[in-house]
Amino acid sequence: MFNEHIRYTDGKLYCDSVMVDSIAAEIGTPVYIYSLSRALRNLRRIQTLFPEAHVHFSTKSNANLAVLSALIGAGAGIDAVSAGEIHKALLVGAQASDIVFAGVGKTREELEYAIRQRVGWINVENVRELDHINSIAAVHGRTQRVALRLNPDVTASTHPYIATGHSYAKFGLTAEVVRDILANQSKYPGIQIEGLHIHIGSQLHDTAATQRAVEIAQEIIAPFPTIKTLNIGGGLPVAYSPDEVVPAWDDFAAVLRPLLNGYQVILEPGRSIVADAGLLVCEALYVKKQAGTTILIVDASMAELIRPALYEAHHEIVPLVENQGEQHITQVVGPVCESSDLLGKDLLLPDLQPGERLAVLNAGAYGMVMASNYNQRLRPPEVVVREDGNTWMIARRRETWDDLTRTEMMTG
Ligand SMILES: *Cc1c(COP(=O)(O)O)cnc(C)c1O
Repeated sequence: MFNEHIRYTDGKLYCDSVMVDSIAAEIGTPVYIYSLSRALRNLRRIQTLFPEAHVHFSTKSNANLAVLSALIGAGAGIDAVSAGEIHKALLVGAQASDIVFAGVGKTREELEYAIRQRVGWINVENVRELDHINSIAAVHGRTQRVALRLNPDVTASTHPYIATGHSYAKFGLTAEVVRDILANQSKYPGIQIEGLHIHIGSQLHDTAATQRAVEIAQEIIAPFPTIKTLNIGGGLPVAYSPDEVVPAWDDFAAVLRPLLNGYQVILEPGRSIVADAGLLVCEALYVKKQAGTTILIVDASMAELIRPALYEAHHEIVPLVENQGEQHITQVVGPVCESSDLLGKDLLLPDLQPGERLAVLNAGAYGMVMASNYNQRLRPPEVVVREDGNTWMIARRRETWDDLTRTEMMTG
């Protein structure tokens, strides 16, 4: 969907003051393009809506160094889910103390790395992990601050949260286990438990579930005054189509802020900061009219943007040059040998000719980070339009055939 930073002006698609087609013409397609201004505006809006909270950007949604660097420069902390993400964040100047390390399956090596780097928080998801942290911290003569990730089981509440329903149980500790750990904190001299973490899902369509989860967390920590921090995760939603109704971020703030009074609060937004700051630009290769529909084959695929294939996610797709021609139901597909290689299903698009370029909108989150070399495709470049709105840079170059083979060897 369009916004003030990504929109048509005089019939041409712009990213801030840069004509998108001028970037595509210069460096080719497919290419990801991000508006740093838009990402920073989203960050600032969340910071303003939750002035008491500290915002940690969820690196897994977009791990480009230029994006991370800009967000860190604007005061964001980092939410990392692997040692690799911690490494990238530190490389661009994140303070270790401003990093939260989360994840359901951290290896012992990752925990060692995180503790040696002195990350500010580790969000713990199982008891054995607590044992690992305790022993590693002892070896390094330190105590590590942690938050316990609570699975608040809000799926079973009267406000069912469906989106991550079935895989949900993999995440977090049950309330019973959290209570047990809190009652036995002295078993972990290398650990300071100072917070509770709840991340109940992404693209939340319901403020009530989050509210309920926070209430459950507060009930659990009430007897433990040393636990002052509530990390309420990410999940602020983004509308991917004009008819998708999602709660406004203000609604989350209105519901949560009064509840969070008196706590230190951490937020971990990812999608809400970068999704609508990014585009994936591609070029039409072929057009087929068959079976009563139009099939538009483009040079981007599920290898570059897997969300439609993986989640049946919807993205709006628009031509870079506005076209008032009659619209037809169109399937926008990629060249990859999979029927699920679809970028846009049943979209209304004008007739487009091979060589015309299009943009997949809202592609800044969970796009490039999930790109692969499937079909031995080269991963695309990432371009950022700088905060000045006028200049841009290649923030990641397009891969080459050398990149495809660099890590492999033949028998020898
Ligand atoms: C994925 C994730 C986030 C970010 O979620 P968004 O929906 O992108 O805001 C935050 N916290 C944790 C623990 C996550 O796994």
